Amino acid sequence: MKVLVINSGSSSIKFQLLDMQDESVLASGLVERIGEPEGLIKCELRPDTDAEEVIKIQEPVPNHEHGMRKAVDLLCDPDKGVIADRNEIAAVGHRVVHGGEDFHQPTLITEEVIAAITKNVPLAPLHNPANLDGISVARELFPEAPQVAVFDTAFHQTIPAHAFHYALPKELYENHRVRRYGFHGTSHAFVAGECAKLMGRPAEELNIITVHLGNGCSMTAVKNGKSIDTTLGLTPLEGLVMGTRSGDVDPAIYAFLARNCDMDIDQIDNMLNKESGLKGLCGLNDMRDIHDAIAKGDEAAKLALDVQTYRNRKYIGAYMAALGSVDAIVFTAGIGENDDIVRAKSVEGLEQFGIVMDDEANAQRVKKPTLLSSSDSKVQIWGIPTNEELAIARQAVEVIG
Ligand code: AMP
Repeated sequence: MKVLVINSGSSSIKFQLLDMQDESVLASGLVERIGEPEGLIKCELRPDTDAEEVIKIQEPVPNHEHGMRKAVDLLCDPDKGVIADRNEIAAVGHRVVHGGEDFHQPTLITEEVIAAITKNVPLAPLHNPANLDGISVARELFPEAPQVAVFDTAFHQTIPAHAFHYALPKELYENHRVRRYGFHGTSHAFVAGECAKLMGRPAEELNIITVHLGNGCSMTAVKNGKSIDTTLGLTPLEGLVMGTRSGDVDPAIYAFLARNCDMDIDQIDNMLNKESGLKGLCGLNDMRDIHDAIAKGDEAAKLALDVQTYRNRKYIGAYMAALGSVDAIVFTAGIGENDDIVRAKSVEGLEQFGIVMDDEANAQRVKKPTLLSSSDSKVQIWGIPTNEELAIARQAVEVIG
């Protein structure tokens, strides 16, 4: 069974075609700069095999439909393609960012589901419309294939009321559903599940803290296989320090900046989402560049690293309290998988709580699941590569049975 996974953004589409018989990747690609004068369609056919082929086409991509059609042509190319025709695709899995309170699990896409995703647009005004574009194009291109929506928020729908409510007038929740939703749910669920398998115990018996550190960052407390708290909130801004997003700030910052710095709501929103985080602190948002700058004596870069890793450590402490006991901490995503320094600093000083890193095991980029804690660590520390595409494809298969 072949499943196409689509992650449709406002100006890009990421896609992956998987053969679910052995979960191998048949093709993986990206359509970029949709709607701009110069677009790019990149596709890796048969990655991870000797017959790998990388195709790059630079040309304008006026809209999502054009981009997706081009990508499908590459997948079906008679010489180089990986499928004979598009009917071979048995299902399409879509990453959808915000399911609000409507979706607790992956869902077969119907007109009602599209209406519910549309209803949640105010909660994710940048993401949900782009996800809907991807769904609409895929339904046109693959009219016979069932389409499945996998929501970034769904895994966190088990968070109890005392953890998802903000202490705000209750009408805001009742009338506008203002609450914590959380994101990166597919990634947190995937690495927590993989961790349980690696530990050889059922997920229902384990308490795990999952730490997703990429351009976006979030942490989740997973109790007996279920999310009970997570750092991202109503929008993907709260919590940890991210590439360009601030994470936690005093909410009174809006009033302060409006009154004292002549900024309006859009400017503040833009600043908190795009000009803050690591970039705000030191001008760099890629952790590799930050390490290079630190090596050259850049004090601002050192502070950015310290602020991010201190926040990580603080939330690990908070989630230890939320969980009561912890069996494992899992690091994942771009920084979590590749950056031993961030991992080490994020658990530094927690030895008395039974969290002990093995410096030698940690001193590597994690390409496959790796135990990073020392043998006397009460809490196991793992680096586990996330694989949201595979997680989405697996869920699509489950939904269509
Ligand atoms: P993601 O959003 O998961 O793709 O992660 C992207 C981020 O991972 C980049 O912005 C970098 O900060 C970080 N990253 C990627 N590769 C490395 C690396 N080798 N060392 C440290 N950080 C890395």
